[in-house]
Amino acid sequence: MEKATYTLLIKLSSEETVEVGSLGYIKFNKGFYSYTGSAFGPGGIKRIFNHIKISEGQKTRKRWHIDYLSSNSSSEIKEIFLTSEKEECRIAERIDAEPIQSFGCSDCKCGSHLRYRDSKLSEKVRESFSKTTQKFEEYRKQEFKIEKNF
Ligand SMILES: [Zn+2]
Repeated sequence: MEKATYTLLIKLSSEETVEVGSLGYIKFNKGFYSYTGSAFGPGGIKRIFNHIKISEGQKTRKRWHIDYLSSNSSSEIKEIFLTSEKEECRIAERIDAEPIQSFGCSDCKCGSHLRYRDSKLSEKVRESFSKTTQKFEEYRKQEFKIEKNF
């Protein structure tokens, strides 16, 4: 899969207030966040590699809203979900968790592409993908790096 709709599952281990580009300061509760994005542009899933590098501090130039949250020292990308279907908005919408207003949706009409739960968010992401696409892939971050030769 070279191009994909993806969801990153992020764990935030403490409450943090983070400046998120044009959105300003946002207080994030401790817990789990799902960010759904689209990697159909040039480079395809390299966009996901980029998110991971930024979250791990190997790259510092933040481009997307999610990069401000994921690069926080208390935050860690845990899982990556992927499908080859162009269903970014529907997948984001169907994740049964609390939306963080205006986050990650500058290019569409959604209220948010970031969702929050204090637990069990992974299950909710899986449900959303199951409802929306015929086929999807799910990886722990380390597995993803190996599988995708990153
Ligand atoms: Zn959208």
